[in-house]
Amino acid sequence: ADNEILVVGGAGYIGSHMCKYLWRRGYRPIVLDNLVCGHRAAVQWGPFIQGDIGDPETLDRVFSEYDIKGVLHFAAYTCVPESVDIPLKYYGNNVANTINLLQGMVRHGVNRLIFSSSCATYGVSDGTPMSEDHVQHPITPYGRTKWMVEQILDDVESAYGLRAVCLRYFNAAGADPDGHLGEDHRPETHLIPIIIKTALGQRDFLSVYGDDYPTRDGTCVRDYIHVEDLAQAHLLALERLLAGGPGGKYNLGNGDGATVREVIERTRGITQASIPVRFEERRPGDVPVLIGSSEKAIRELGWRPQYSDLDAIIETAWNWHRRYPDGYPE
Ligand code: UDP
Repeated sequence: ADNEILVVGGAGYIGSHMCKYLWRRGYRPIVLDNLVCGHRAAVQWGPFIQGDIGDPETLDRVFSEYDIKGVLHFAAYTCVPESVDIPLKYYGNNVANTINLLQGMVRHGVNRLIFSSSCATYGVSDGTPMSEDHVQHPITPYGRTKWMVEQILDDVESAYGLRAVCLRYFNAAGADPDGHLGEDHRPETHLIPIIIKTALGQRDFLSVYGDDYPTRDGTCVRDYIHVEDLAQAHLLALERLLAGGPGGKYNLGNGDGATVREVIERTRGITQASIPVRFEERRPGDVPVLIGSSEKAIRELGWRPQYSDLDAIIETAWNWHRRYPDGYPE
């Protein structure tokens, strides 16, 4: 078929929302996922191949079997503090395995890629919304893996004509507004799902890592962006590439930040739960403030975020976690 898109990491959090979005728009998402982090039950909108992008034979099989028009690459490890403790796991998967995926694409003449990059490629900022030309000086192994792949993609484009759009997400959050898909990391390390699990009584308290940052209330400021809005941006970027448009690098954020304390307060308001908190030491790799300006994506891709309000992000996540308190079935 001429509507087949390979989604690597399509059983994961953002990848699964992406597949549903593609399917709604008439594409056929082909999911390749090793299920190290992803969930089989999250793959519902097209064929599933269990396999690893680090394995050339798996890639050859997938690219031969399907008529892949473009690749969306979500298959990465994403836990910043873990990347500080076990960097080789991150360089091995996020960089080396991505090179293997690119080699597979080049072998099979597939030359359109949307790459999940990150605001972690910027490193420290002065606290104002960062645009794409902000200096990239990542301070963690995770951030460096994403930054390295961006550099590799520039070289790959000039050498092989493989065009890529790098989307630098700020803090992906929220869940499928229909309530079928959500965020289920094991162990969970991300703030919003952990707050919600505490609200549900699955955890006794929430650890807040540091209250002495130079921010308005001492806790870190992050720019939370709804996973559905991320999916919309990917589709716009993909369709532009498929229509012969250029690659590029785009921030995806709200241009607005919330502190950890503010996220907790808003969640208390929505869930009516008390959410006990304990203040702890700073977490390795955290920077005080990360806020993105997405003017470029709005202007050049026509991106129109629909769920920018933090309440909408928390509500959709709350709905999914209430419905599936144990996450996806295994
Ligand atoms: N955070 C926290 N307690 C938690 C998890 C996260 O205080 O149990 C803080 C974390 O230190 C950071 C913010 O919440 O300042 C967002 O962390 P998350 O892991 O969700 O995303 P990151 O910004 O690391 O990608």
